[in-house]
Amino acid sequence: KDVDLSNPDVVRYVVNRFGLRMNKKLGQNFLIRHAVVDDIAAAAELKPGDPVLEIGPGIGTLTQALAETGAAVTAVELDDHLLPVLDKTLEHYDNVRVVHGDIMRIDIAETMNHKPFKVCANLPYYITTPIIMKLLEQKLPIEKIVVMVQKEVAERMVAAPGSKIYGALSVSVQYYTEPRMLFEISPKCFMPAPEVTSAVVSMDVRQTPPVQVQDEKRFFQVVKTAFSQRRKTFSNTLKSAGLSKEQIAGILEASRIDGSRRGETMSLQEFADVADAWSHMAA
Ligand code: SAM
Repeated sequence: KDVDLSNPDVVRYVVNRFGLRMNKKLGQNFLIRHAVVDDIAAAAELKPGDPVLEIGPGIGTLTQALAETGAAVTAVELDDHLLPVLDKTLEHYDNVRVVHGDIMRIDIAETMNHKPFKVCANLPYYITTPIIMKLLEQKLPIEKIVVMVQKEVAERMVAAPGSKIYGALSVSVQYYTEPRMLFEISPKCFMPAPEVTSAVVSMDVRQTPPVQVQDEKRFFQVVKTAFSQRRKTFSNTLKSAGLSKEQIAGILEASRIDGSRRGETMSLQEFADVADAWSHMAA
């Protein structure tokens, strides 16, 4: 095996050798704990030849652990300062392909050759939610997503109705996937140490949604509306979606929802019932 890119001395050496400045704006916190890196890679359950997408390889630490499984790794990195670094640190792996680009702008399906794949990444925290939403909403042929995120975001992803942190992210993640919180990671495991605790979430992408809904767009419109003004009652939030009093009353009656509730108490099924009642009325 090559040099261990999760070894703190190696990371320090690479950073000095290439004169890198950790770019805070790009969320550059590099992992320096071998066991943690191995655990994240193991959570992806990769077999030799499996296509896997890594977002933000940094100096190649997690990339190395993914490559060691024999998987076919595609790593998308935005920072061009890191390209010569990755060229060097991963030079002995012929199963790694580094792509220079912004994950929010590239065509992911095209990059992954329109074949089923998994995602495994230590995400840049400034765009965690947009990245997760892009992966989910584009209906890409993804089997599993393993991501390290801020602990607070991980908790929102797996939150159940009725908890304070349950929101639009919880509903989306749970609509498209079965998420599980795997483990927490202390700031000490990174260089430089971030201010927050991190956590790893594994999401098995669902073949079929957990609730049936006639019009998915409307379902997500209802969800977005319900959480856009968290202090308002559900009934009042529907007003901001452009519905009249009578229409709202009709929808609430048909879906048997008490309009005085808050969005954060509503299950996926209840959001689906409201969306379907709205669709019926609009038809
Ligand atoms: N995987 C490495 C590790 O675990 O040590 C580094 C992870 S670091 C938290 C996030 C990485 O994402 C950085 O290398 C950063 O340059 C990269 N990055 C930031 N924004 C990006 C974007 N829009 N597209 C692709 N990569 C991005």
